[in-house]
Amino acid sequence: MKALVKSHSKEGLWLEDVPEPTISINDVLIKIDRTGICGTDVHIYNWDSWAQKTIPVPMVVGHEFVGEIVEIGSNVADFRVGDIVSGEGHVVCGRCRNCMAGRRHLCADTKGIGVNRPGAFAEYISLPMTNVWHHDHSIDRDIASIFDPFGNAVHTALTFPVLGEDVLITGAGPIGCMAAAVCQYAGARYVVVSDVNPWRLELAKKMGATHVVDVRSESIADVQKHLGMHEGFDVGLEMSGNPHAFHDMIDNMCHGGKIAMLGIPEGEMAIDWNKVVFNMLTIKGIYGREMYETWYKMTVMIQGGLNITPIITHRFHYSDFQEGFDIMRSGMSGKIVLNWN
Ligand code: NAD
Ligand code: ZN
Repeated sequence: MKALVKSHSKEGLWLEDVPEPTISINDVLIKIDRTGICGTDVHIYNWDSWAQKTIPVPMVVGHEFVGEIVEIGSNVADFRVGDIVSGEGHVVCGRCRNCMAGRRHLCADTKGIGVNRPGAFAEYISLPMTNVWHHDHSIDRDIASIFDPFGNAVHTALTFPVLGEDVLITGAGPIGCMAAAVCQYAGARYVVVSDVNPWRLELAKKMGATHVVDVRSESIADVQKHLGMHEGFDVGLEMSGNPHAFHDMIDNMCHGGKIAMLGIPEGEMAIDWNKVVFNMLTIKGIYGREMYETWYKMTVMIQGGLNITPIITHRFHYSDFQEGFDIMRSGMSGKIVLNWN
């Protein structure tokens, strides 16, 4: 089958013929229909220091997908050939204390699809049945293909109650933009999104940000004044991984404010702990999606009318993957979907 492979320890990805995956008794075989390009895939493409120490070469990459089940293992009772499914990108151990308690997103032995085990930028993927999400027929195929990053946005945005609250989102990448849509849908008053990229701030507006801030020319404190906010943001969603953005957030929270942190900083990041202590802030790290509460919430919100379609800004056939990666690397995109048919 065709697959996008990290086959050399240098910048790039290569479209290659690789053997079709086989399944064991607890697995399903999925024919890939569409995939989303994630920032993680760009890290792997770029072969940055994180990728170099994380990705074994060769590796079929990619983890955001939708496809159709074409074969099931003998132990699989809950799925049928023909089901339209996505995969939860984190394969957990199933045996540790957190897994046994149903808190699978907290498993300390998580393996990533397209990171530690063969990924979804391929014609077929084999997955344990415990990682399969069956899509309702009401879910649009393109949207189904990005449930993984949408799940990051939903998990983060719903970590703290936002109904009647003012929310600051730092970073208008695809995940920050989708989080803006979720916060608006979930009843926040102001959803202010900051970035340094005007193209992405425009996208944030289309996705439901009530206000956007280009922090190169305007401060978040000024936006607060303009909005008549006196006490700071109630909820912060850090979605850039950028230290300046994180400091902006700490400086603009209300006393007792709550921060959910999804953005991944490049290394250690300094913080003035006095501001955390005296302003009594809560900071919570967020990783992945809750299995499968986040997936349930995504489905129900889409069915209830949440529209995230503007986040998909480009579509390509998989053979044109290079163009997709070039656009992703330019920063002038939301989600990019590759078609594998
Ligand atoms: P992205 O890199 O596309 O978006 C980050 C955005 O932050 C960019 O648009 C960038 O211009 C902006 N930014 C840079 N400096 C800024 C500043 N000073 N103020 C405000 N914004 C600034 O990333 P994404 O795919 O949307 O993902 C968001 C973050 O979440 C990334 O850091 C990513 O690595 C991380 N992530 C974490 C998880 C997890 O499970 N924790 C999962 C997926 C992604
Ligand atoms: Zn576990």
